[in-house]
Amino acid sequence: MVVGDISTGTDVLVIGAGPGGYVGAIRAGQLGLDVTLVEKDAYGGTCLNYGCIPSKAMITASDLAYDANNAEEMGIYTKLDVNYGEMVEWKDGVVSQLTGGVEKLCKANGVSLMEGRAEFADDKSVRVVHGGEGQGSETVEFEHAIVSTGSRPIEIPGFEFDGEHILSSRQALALDDVPESIVIVGAGYIGMELAGVFAKLGSDVTVVEMLDSVLPGYEDDLARPVKKKADELGIDFHFGQAAKEWEGSGRGITVVTEDEDGDVSEFGAEKALVAVGRQPVSDTLELENAGIETDEKGFIQTDDRARTEQEHIFAIGDVAGEPMLAHKASKEGQVAAEVIAGEPSALDYQAMPAAVFTDPEIGTVGLTEEEAESQGFEPVVGKFPFQASGRALTTGHAEGFVRIVADEPSGFALGAQIVGPEASELIAELGLAIEMGATLEDLAATIHTHPTLSEAVMECAENALGHAIHTLNR
Ligand SMILES: Cc1cc2nc3c(=O)[nH]c(=O)nc-3n(C[C@H](O)[C@H](O)[C@H](O)COP(=O)(O)OP(=O)(O)OC[C@H]3O[C@@H](n4cnc5c(N)ncnc54)[C@H](O)[C@@H]3O)c2cc1C
Repeated sequence: MVVGDISTGTDVLVIGAGPGGYVGAIRAGQLGLDVTLVEKDAYGGTCLNYGCIPSKAMITASDLAYDANNAEEMGIYTKLDVNYGEMVEWKDGVVSQLTGGVEKLCKANGVSLMEGRAEFADDKSVRVVHGGEGQGSETVEFEHAIVSTGSRPIEIPGFEFDGEHILSSRQALALDDVPESIVIVGAGYIGMELAGVFAKLGSDVTVVEMLDSVLPGYEDDLARPVKKKADELGIDFHFGQAAKEWEGSGRGITVVTEDEDGDVSEFGAEKALVAVGRQPVSDTLELENAGIETDEKGFIQTDDRARTEQEHIFAIGDVAGEPMLAHKASKEGQVAAEVIAGEPSALDYQAMPAAVFTDPEIGTVGLTEEEAESQGFEPVVGKFPFQASGRALTTGHAEGFVRIVADEPSGFALGAQIVGPEASELIAELGLAIEMGATLEDLAATIHTHPTLSEAVMECAENALGHAIHTLNR
C-alpha cells in the first residue's frame, strides 16, 4: 500500500457505471449485498452519456425536422429552421435527467458510489485512483468483483480523434453546429445512424466503406431499404474504399482512400467521422494482477454465468464480448449479481433483440432462415410488407416488412427480422414470443388492435401458416 492510502472493503465491487455496471450494482443491492460502484468518468457510461441516448435524441429531433419539411403530400408546408445549439441543449437535458436518475437509483438501493479509476492490485483488491491533482488513491478489498469497463471507439492509423477535424461518434454528437459537409468512414450502424442525422439537418454527407454494402452483418434485404432511403437523402456512398490518411485543405480536410487494386480516391469535407467499430476497455485494468487473460481482441472470456477464469470475478457488457449492446450489458449485470447472491441464474441469448435506428429502422431477434436451417430446423417463413398495413400508410412510412422464421413441424417461432417503421419497438413482441415458446398459431390467434403497426406481426404469422387475409399466401 502507498503511504497515504486508505483501505476499505466490500462484498461486491463493480468497476464501471454503464448500463452493465450500474444495473448489476442495483440488482446486487436489491439482493442485500454490500456493493461499491467505481466510475472514473460519468454515471450511465457510454450508453447514457455518449451513445444510445444522445444518438437517439438527435435522430428523433432530425426526423421531426425532416418529416415536417417533407410533408407536402399530407398538405403540410413548412420551411426547415433548425437551431442546432438548442437541439443539442435539449439532448444534453435528456442525458442529464437520466444520469441523475442513475445516481439516485444506486443510492436508493444501498450502492456506495466511488469516483476514480480502478485497477487490480491482485485477485482480491483494486486500487482506485481518484481524479485530479493530489486526490490520492485508495485500496478496496472485495469478495466478488464485476468488471464492466465497456468499450471505446477504434482509431484507424493516421486518423487520431482530435475533435476538430477527425471526430469519434462522441465528438460528433457534441458539435456546436451542423457541419456543412462530412465524410463518414464506416457504414456500420453508428455511421449509418449519424449519416441520417446530418443529412436530415442539411449536411452534405459522404460515406466511405471498406466492404461492399451498408450495415455489414445484416441480411441484404434488411439493409436495402436503408440504403435506398439514404440515397434519397442524397448521401453519397463509396464502397470498397479503405481510409488511408487525411490532410488539411483550406478550412476543411481531404480523406484519402484506397481500393483493393491500390487505386486512390480523395473526398473533401469540413470534418470526418470515423465509425469503424469499438474495442473493449480491458488494457487499463492491470487484469494480469488478478490472473485474468483476455483474448486476442482484448475481450474478457466468461462462462454462461458471466464468471471469468477467476470464479469470484465476473465480466459483463462490451468488455465481455459481442454483441456490444446496452441491453446485453444490463442482462449480464443482473445475472452476475444474482449468481453472486447464490441464485440459480444463467445467461440465455436466444431471444436477444438488436435494433438499428436508421431510416427505416431494423429490428432482429433469434435466428435467420439460414441460421435455422444450419441448426437442423425445417424453417417456414412468413412475410408481411408494410405497404399492406393500413396504419403504416397513415403514418407516411410504409417501407419495409416483417418476417418471421418458425420451425415448420412444431410451429415454434425461432426468429424475426423487421425493417420499417418502429421496427425497434415491434421486435419486442417477437422476442417475447420466442422467450415464451410461442408458435405461429399463438401469434396468429392473438387479437391485435386495429389499426396498428403490430397487426403486421399477426398478419405475418398468418402468412407463414398459409392463411393471410391482407396479403397473397405463399
Ligand atoms: C453512438 C453510439 C450509439 C449506440 N447506440 C446503441 C443503441 O441504440 N442500443 C444499444 O443497445 N447499444 C448502443 N450502443 C452501444 C452501447 O452504448 C454499449 O453497448 C453499452 O454502453 C455497453 O455498456 P457497458 O456497461 O458494457 O459499458 P459502458 O457503457 O461503456 O460503460 C463502461 C463504464 O466504465 C467506466 N470505466 C472504464 N474503465 C474504468 C476503470 N478502470 N475504473 C472505473 N471506471 C471505468 C467508463 O468510464 C464507463 O462509464 C451505442 C454506442 C454508441 C457509441
